[in-house]
Amino acid sequence: MKQFEETLYDAVNQQFRIDKLYFENKTEHQHLMIFHNAQLGRVMTLDGVVQTTEADEFIYHEMMTHVPVLAHGNAKRVLIIGGGDGGILREACRHNIDHVTQVEIDEAVVDMAKEYLPNHSAGAFDDPRLNLVIDDGMAFVKSCQESFDVIIVDSTDPIGPGEVLFTEDFYAQAKRCLAPEGVMVTQNGVPFFQPDELKNTHERLRQHFTDAGFYCAPIPTYYGGFMSLGWATDNCDLRQVSVDELQGRLGQVGMTCRYYNPEIHVASFALPQYMRQIIGTGR
Ligand code: SAM
Repeated sequence: MKQFEETLYDAVNQQFRIDKLYFENKTEHQHLMIFHNAQLGRVMTLDGVVQTTEADEFIYHEMMTHVPVLAHGNAKRVLIIGGGDGGILREACRHNIDHVTQVEIDEAVVDMAKEYLPNHSAGAFDDPRLNLVIDDGMAFVKSCQESFDVIIVDSTDPIGPGEVLFTEDFYAQAKRCLAPEGVMVTQNGVPFFQPDELKNTHERLRQHFTDAGFYCAPIPTYYGGFMSLGWATDNCDLRQVSVDELQGRLGQVGMTCRYYNPEIHVASFALPQYMRQIIGTGR
């Protein structure tokens, strides 16, 4: 039986058995695979790196979406950069938002996800609130004249087309598109194996945001322990929203989740010492 072998790291990697291959091809931008694995369900990889699996996508998509949206408390306009599988879009559309713009560089990822990973978007690509833009996220934020309450950067790792989304210039341009009380969150890798990504992002975000930090979530198929999610806002109160207040906001939306709850939301900002040491802060 054919195996998928992840190529993210040289000395260590993970393998998934390919029980059924749905799609494998080079798109305009990257090498895309979608296959079925008995344990993980359907799996998407890009350029040899695991992007998402049906088994554990709920953890990542709930934490990347509900933490910023519920911390904000009155988000009406959301911007998603990347996220071609549709999982973030699905979770964002569960909120009482008025509009969501999604900027995805690779139309083939959206098309193949719709066809072979339908449970990820669950129809969200047909939501009338969506403006889907096929473009480089960097180009979009450079020319964007709109303002968003929450920006979610659901990018690949800083290799290939995703690399530009980890630059200080991108963060500066994205800040231009963020409403004054807004918050941006970013996919920021697994700090145990990618400590430089954590350090670099912190140094770059803190040039442009009053509160630049991270929160964490454990996604089993993002190899190497829990994942760090970048947090960037000028409103330092947003990370302090209480469990009770979050519970009230969650109740207003009437949402049930499989990973997210207000206690996990608050706890996810508690960083272990080695992460604090990497970013050189006390929190
Ligand atoms: N959750 C995954 C993770 O944590 O690695 C990311 C999933 S999602 C599939 C990543 C998306 O980012 C892909 O669809 C890819 O095409 C998109 N992407 C990469 N670089 C981009 C760019 N410069 N602008 C917009 N989208 C980009």
